[in-house]
Amino acid sequence: MNLNNDNYYSQESNIAFMSVSQYKNFVGSLGRLGCEYGAMEELYGRWIPKKSTAMLVGSYVDSYFEGSLAHFKMENPDVFTQKGELKAPFKNAEKIIARIERDEYFMKYMSGHKQVIMTGDLFGTDWKIKIDSYIPDVAIVDLKVMESITDLKWVKDYGYTDFVRYWNYDIQGAVYQEIVRQNTGKRLPFYIAAATKQEEPDIRIVHVTDNYLQEALSVVEANTPRILRIKGGGEQPERCELCDCCRHNRVLTKPISIMDLTAGI
Ligand SMILES: [Zn+2]
Repeated sequence: MNLNNDNYYSQESNIAFMSVSQYKNFVGSLGRLGCEYGAMEELYGRWIPKKSTAMLVGSYVDSYFEGSLAHFKMENPDVFTQKGELKAPFKNAEKIIARIERDEYFMKYMSGHKQVIMTGDLFGTDWKIKIDSYIPDVAIVDLKVMESITDLKWVKDYGYTDFVRYWNYDIQGAVYQEIVRQNTGKRLPFYIAAATKQEEPDIRIVHVTDNYLQEALSVVEANTPRILRIKGGGEQPERCELCDCCRHNRVLTKPISIMDLTAGI
């Protein structure tokens, strides 16, 4: 299957290829529990997760830098009020874009080829990636819009962590770096071009160094065989019982005990 902008997110391509977001649906990240059942329901179109405003704001900024903002607005009329004005979160997105464009150094990282699609083989299966800004021979850059760059996140049984590992962007960097290497023979550094939604937006270029990427790749290696068995139908997906998809499909057959309410603690 040849991937392009029209079929990249299609069901056919999601079945044929692994992607970082699909991997995270199955396995989760430090900050969000994965759900094998939800991942499979989504893969086969039986569950369509709602696009959150936060995700739309990210896509808005992405599409601006890709040069496809007009198309994005057409596809997402929800960004406008009934009067045809931008809703507040998207006015804020405009402010973030203006802040980014005011910084020459940040813009250098955003100057690569936009939304570049590549495929490769990792741990016995085909993977697809889409790079926000690819500067051949120089860097792989992913643009992220977030609440805060510097606030630490608390994870139970783990402690405080930074946004990169909380959302497992190290996994994204690891997979992108390896697939670019397979396509070009070059191992390029992975950067997150980060901008915040704060009243006064913060901007930083974060180098996710190779030691973190190598560690992340070995985690992907360990988790991929089970995902492939589930995708192939050889193993039943487990339900997390906590996500929207599990709640939507819950069928009650008996009461639970008061003990079950604290079982996770
Ligand atoms: Zn679930």
